Amino acid sequence: MTTPIVIIGAGVAGLVCAIDLQKAGQSVQLLDAAPDVGGRVRTTVQDGLVIDHGFQVLFTAYPTLRSYLDLDALALRRFLPAARIAQGGQVSLIGDALRDPGLLVDTVLSRAVNVGDKLRLLALRRFAQQLAIDDCFAPRFAGVSTRAFLESRGFGSAVIDGFFAPFYGGILLDRTLATSASILLFTFKMLADGDTVIPAGGIGAITRQMAARLTPGTVRTRTAVSSLVVTNGRVTGVTLDDGSGLDAAQVVLATEAPAAERLAATAGVSLPAPAGARGCTTLYYTVRTSPIPGKALWLNAEPNAVISHAVTLTDVAPEYATGGRVLLAATAVGAAADRDDAALDAAARTELARMGGLSAEAVGFERVALWRVPYAQFAQPPGWREQRPSIACGIPGLWRASEVLHSSSLEGAARGGAMAAQALLHAT
Ligand SMILES: Cc1cc2nc3c(=O)[nH]c(=O)nc-3n(C[C@H](O)[C@H](O)[C@H](O)COP(=O)(O)OP(=O)(O)OC[C@H]3O[C@@H](n4cnc5c(N)ncnc54)[C@H](O)[C@@H]3O)c2cc1C
Repeated sequence: MTTPIVIIGAGVAGLVCAIDLQKAGQSVQLLDAAPDVGGRVRTTVQDGLVIDHGFQVLFTAYPTLRSYLDLDALALRRFLPAARIAQGGQVSLIGDALRDPGLLVDTVLSRAVNVGDKLRLLALRRFAQQLAIDDCFAPRFAGVSTRAFLESRGFGSAVIDGFFAPFYGGILLDRTLATSASILLFTFKMLADGDTVIPAGGIGAITRQMAARLTPGTVRTRTAVSSLVVTNGRVTGVTLDDGSGLDAAQVVLATEAPAAERLAATAGVSLPAPAGARGCTTLYYTVRTSPIPGKALWLNAEPNAVISHAVTLTDVAPEYATGGRVLLAATAVGAAADRDDAALDAAARTELARMGGLSAEAVGFERVALWRVPYAQFAQPPGWREQRPSIACGIPGLWRASEVLHSSSLEGAARGGAMAAQALLHAT
């Protein structure tokens, strides 16, 4: 029996790290406190409804992540590369006609964005697409906020507040546009280079497929690590919540950043988590008539919106509900996401019905789930990348596999896992 490398956290980062280490012939134990693998990428099926643990999408252009996936086997269902913007009782569509020429007429006629800003959008798309991913993270973009960057490219406040704010509310769970412009360019590039999809079996099918690549017995769920064991100045194992211990040849921290900070502290190591969490709450409804039909994401551009973005999931992936039912997801971000259940529910019914020009009675809302995710992403303001931690944690035997090594995204987590495995294999 060889002493295994113990990876704490079976989200995307931990799974990728485990796959690579096993491929290189290492013995691996992957531990997770939760009942299932996947971390932030999980799904529950309840009463024939596919409920993701917070609405989330996959960009098929993510290069590292896709190299760990069999995309065909995920039965991907594609969103229209477009957004419907609802404001003041009007709905208009802005789409990427280069990815779907059928969107051209609606986009050209759309009144939500003026002609000059439509041309600037097209130029921004071209600009982002010709960048390599690493170029998106160059200091000249990483050091400025999305809002300042958009202003420097001549966008007006109407399109910034009426389109970019709710659109990036959907992608980054933050409508303030305070995030570094690198993330804007990275996501614009991903949107231009590939499709936006969900697997027919729910977003959790991604991490279930990754876990299936590991040899049986690698993963132990419902196994929370409470502290690290240090012997003679080296991390040599972990202590579990039930008080038992596990020896480790090496330990990899693949948890969310705040949990990694807490665990590292038990070994006397300081690993400060990035300041600021981006949370969201997604409400799921079945309805008689969807007020927000179609395969595009709906953006609520009202200045005081509680629901930031919403979609009729079953229009994109009919497999999300059995029996021909219609399933909607509506997400609140920022401070709005912290409202209590009843307040969110009331606001969602009112706002969704208004977006579609229907009464709540005509829609026939039935709430089927509500998911709160206080830590969905970490904040990525200008300058955060300079404070990125290193993979080696400053004490022998302890490593970091995490989205914090790249960006708060599925691709960032996959890169973090791959980088950790590579560094660990190189060093041992
Ligand atoms: C609602 C939502 C929407 C999102 N939207 C998008 C999107 O559209 N596109 C995109 O690219 N990204 C999106 N993200 C972000 C993306 O999901 C994350 O960046 C990524 O999943 C992070 O993966 P990870 O492996 O780093 O961490 P996690 O998935 O958080 O995995 C960490 C794991 O560590 C485990 N753990 C923690 N402490 C312990 C302990 N003491 N002992 C044992 N196990 C422990 C946890 O249970 C968890 O499973 C979204 C996230 C959410 C939640």
